[in-house]
Amino acid sequence: MAKISVYRFLSAGCNACDVEILECLVPRYGLANLGVEVVEEPEKANVLILTGAGTIKGEKALLEVYEKINPPKIVVAVGNCSITKNIFDKGYPIIGPPNKLIPVNYYIPGCPPRPQAIIKAIADILGVKIEEKEEFWKTPEGFRGRHEIDGEKCIGCGACAQICTADAIEVIDGPEKRIIRVNYGHCTFCAFCQDECPTQAIRLTGVYHLLTSDPRAARVENEVNLLSCTICGGTFFPEKQIEWALKRVVEEKVPIYKDYHDNIYNSMRICPNCRRKIENIKRAKILLTNLSERARRP
Ligand code: SF4
Ligand code: SF4
Repeated sequence: MAKISVYRFLSAGCNACDVEILECLVPRYGLANLGVEVVEEPEKANVLILTGAGTIKGEKALLEVYEKINPPKIVVAVGNCSITKNIFDKGYPIIGPPNKLIPVNYYIPGCPPRPQAIIKAIADILGVKIEEKEEFWKTPEGFRGRHEIDGEKCIGCGACAQICTADAIEVIDGPEKRIIRVNYGHCTFCAFCQDECPTQAIRLTGVYHLLTSDPRAARVENEVNLLSCTICGGTFFPEKQIEWALKRVVEEKVPIYKDYHDNIYNSMRICPNCRRKIENIKRAKILLTNLSERARRP
């Protein structure tokens, strides 16, 4: 496509994404150099850019606008609200992300996405290569983009998911594995997860190109093995989390318990259900008595 004419449709959102889209037009970013123009009437556009979550009141207008867009009628959802509803998820006037109402071809996750991410995405959609100096793409110091999870360090504890106020991290327990999954479309790139991670396994990188045609593919994940209960055989906590916790107790926090390493480890390998059985409560009490006696000794 030689030239694209964009019509912007704003729905429920803070409008930061739309500000970034307009920013793309200033000479520094030069969206116009790609042959892109922003038009005020949908009849003159062949690309529809959506920002914000779909609203009940805006549904009719969106459907009408979509009808008026010219072929090839490319629809691009920019920013998380237009992908998942994001923070507007439970809002009473929200009908759903726009892809519930009209077909969406591309998604540019971000909250909001950087102008460079939007330009790169549009260039990718057009199949155009942009020659810009490295300086143009560089992120400022402290910029927070796509996550990286170190598979060696991650113990699968889920602390990152608990701290995430955007509900962007899922903890999915299967029969043998736990998946820790960061979903773009929800993430606000606040880095609370990075601060909370006890093993420094998760970190936000400077990568911000997240264009996708499948919003479910915009994610980063890690997998850890779950431990089998030594009594019932059912899986419960991640194996690495148990080992990490044990190491913290007997090597770092209370080294005097080192002699009880195996006893503590064995009791940790019993699932919460089996721990409630009377014989296991008795065993646990004996271990606790031994530990407190050991603590009293010099
Ligand atoms: S990334 Fe960190 S906080 Fe999240 S599950 Fe892995 S170890 Fe736990
Ligand atoms: S940076 Fe981490 S804590 Fe913040 S919204 Fe994204 S996944 Fe959640």
